[in-house]
Amino acid sequence: MSERLPERVDPWRLVQQRRVLQGESPLERMSRLAEHAGAQQGAARVLLEFLRDDEGHPRIRGQIEAEVGLVCQRCMEPFLLPLRQPVDLILVSDDVHAEQVQAWGEPVIVPEQLFLRDLIEDELLLGLPLVPRHEDEAECHRHVGRWLESEPERSEDEQRSNPFAVLGELKSRLNTKD
Ligand SMILES: [Zn+2]
Repeated sequence: MSERLPERVDPWRLVQQRRVLQGESPLERMSRLAEHAGAQQGAARVLLEFLRDDEGHPRIRGQIEAEVGLVCQRCMEPFLLPLRQPVDLILVSDDVHAEQVQAWGEPVIVPEQLFLRDLIEDELLLGLPLVPRHEDEAECHRHVGRWLESEPERSEDEQRSNPFAVLGELKSRLNTKD
């Protein structure tokens, strides 16, 4: 069983200790993800390694996995997109250092404390497709097919609740009295 990750950590110390963090981060608490993709369930599975690379740069490396709920823009049905985002960031304390290390990789500015959920959310947002769609177009046709099949049922319901149908029934009853 994976455990929940701490809210925030001191990444500089974790680099010194060459620590590996492994755990889960609930998606429902990520407000920016909700803004982009709607309300989410489940949790991201996270593995982060804090280390110094061969050039001596403090780095965060690892992987984030999650199933993000999206709406397919081809068939408009909700679907789960499995995301697997590799993480490889150089830890820097300010803008100046961020510019200096850009030749070696992507910097992340953390003066002291790192809010893990923010980092995980950033990475998931990076992994979201611009236009979400079922990967396999056949999935879309299957959904549209199901929608068409259920169509006759719907029109029956409509007839039942149609006020004119009730009027018609009344009329025919009155006619039989005559
Ligand atoms: Zn679709």
